[in-house]
Amino acid sequence: MSEKSKSKVVPLKKRKCGMCDKPAVHEYRPFCSRRCANLDLGNWLGETYRVAGNEPPEYDESYNEEE
Ligand SMILES: [Zn+2]
Repeated sequence: MSEKSKSKVVPLKKRKCGMCDKPAVHEYRPFCSRRCANLDLGNWLGETYRVAGNEPPEYDESYNEEE
């Protein structure tokens, strides 16, 4: 990546912030601000939990049997 961004903030191809629909900013792409980026990170962590729980169902069953 070269540093072409000498001019202030260059909006990406009119990409919208995934959080609030504002135009995304290069610095925080694909978000409009650090705050939105952090919000998404929070969502990510939340989804990570889901993905983590996406393990083979068999495991869940055997766990039940143990009870
Ligand atoms: Zn935003």
